[in-house]
Amino acid sequence: MENEHHEHHGSHSGLGPTGYCICPKCGTRIPHRSGIPCKQERCPNCGTVMLREGSEEHKAFLEVMSKKNKKQGN
Ligand SMILES: [Zn+2]
Repeated sequence: MENEHHEHHGSHSGLGPTGYCICPKCGTRIPHRSGIPCKQERCPNCGTVMLREGSEEHKAFLEVMSKKNKKQGN
């Protein structure tokens, strides 16, 4: 059986083991450490719990921010 042999290198769908954690408060980014969820990381700058860059939570956060900016910037 060779069903185990379908590993791919390079980027494809999914967040993968690498990337960045980003602070929603001050925008600091740190390299994501494999095995440690960004939600368990604290921003080295301000201590806020971080988000995985590119995750659904991060996208939702960006959306909220852009909505706020639209309201404010008028
Ligand atoms: Zn921060």
